[in-house]
Amino acid sequence: MTRPKTISLVVPFYNEGGGVDGFARSISAIAAGLPAYRFEIICIDDGSRDSTLRELLALHQRDPRFTVIELSRNFGKEAAMTAGIDAARGEAVIPIDADLQDPPELIGQMIAQWEQGAEVVLAKRTDRSSDSYLKRQSASLFYRFHNALSGLKIPENVGDFRLMDRVVVDALRQLPERQRFMKGLFAWVGFKTVTLEYSRQAREVGMTKFSGWKLWNFALEGITSFSTVPLRIMTYLGITGTLVTSLYALYIVIRTLLHGVDVPGYASLLVAILFTGSLQLVGMGILGEYVGRIYMESKQRPIYVIRHCHRALASATDSDTTQASTHG
Ligand code: UDP
Ligand code: MG
Repeated sequence: MTRPKTISLVVPFYNEGGGVDGFARSISAIAAGLPAYRFEIICIDDGSRDSTLRELLALHQRDPRFTVIELSRNFGKEAAMTAGIDAARGEAVIPIDADLQDPPELIGQMIAQWEQGAEVVLAKRTDRSSDSYLKRQSASLFYRFHNALSGLKIPENVGDFRLMDRVVVDALRQLPERQRFMKGLFAWVGFKTVTLEYSRQAREVGMTKFSGWKLWNFALEGITSFSTVPLRIMTYLGITGTLVTSLYALYIVIRTLLHGVDVPGYASLLVAILFTGSLQLVGMGILGEYVGRIYMESKQRPIYVIRHCHRALASATDSDTTQASTHG
């Protein structure tokens, strides 16, 4: 018999205390329904401050298919996912949220598509009514704005929940950026893609970790990661401003020559000064955004720091009982 294929699930956990067992139960049920595959479930504790890590370690003791990676502090979902994807050994890797908002029931269909040759299987949310109206509207605005600005098209309503073949994961791991906007990186690598649809459930326990401000910064991150169009827009605004100002200057000079000096003009002067001044500030802000990114990238710091990796030693004979902890 050939060795069963391994499917790696990558699950970031941040303050998901109380939700760990429910998650493990659903995943175990799904794995039991797919006996032809081996599952390794890589749970990343992203510096949780509640009982999450304790619950995860207990889970690892009970069921060694669950690997636990402890990060040294909260690095954010993107970094946590990167840590999990780096540790994954499966022939296919599926990032999935810990809160069961990404239905594990879809995993079977994803694997079926993968077996038929798809390299990426996306899960698209058809119904986002579990998200607030504001979140849906702003998300839709973000996708439209991003895809208009950037040459890279990020599919709308597709989260991080997807199946990726080993070739895709290896390509992804070659992208060296420190600031990881995963949705963009996933889209950037390309590959043969199939889309499945599902309706997004409300969170089972706990609450969302992404406030409006965090999402806004996330959106800025996405746009500046994959597009330099904002810089170019500033150039065009500058050129337009220069042209209009030159024409106006010419008009004033001619008028002064014909009619002499006219003192009033306070309003137009003030408007011009304020307008150009604020335009320059905006331009500098946008420029600064990119310079800041260069600065962050140039430091070449690691994306995440692992305190400890609790992983069962997988042997060729597939004995699930050998267990050891390795330092990451
Ligand atoms: N998460 C994480 N680190 C963070 C924030 C979130 O690992 O700093 C995890 C979180 O535990 C969950 C997933 O990312 O598994 C998605 O988070 P959440 O459900 O809060 O996001 P939403 O579904 O509201 O977009
Ligand atoms: Mg969620």
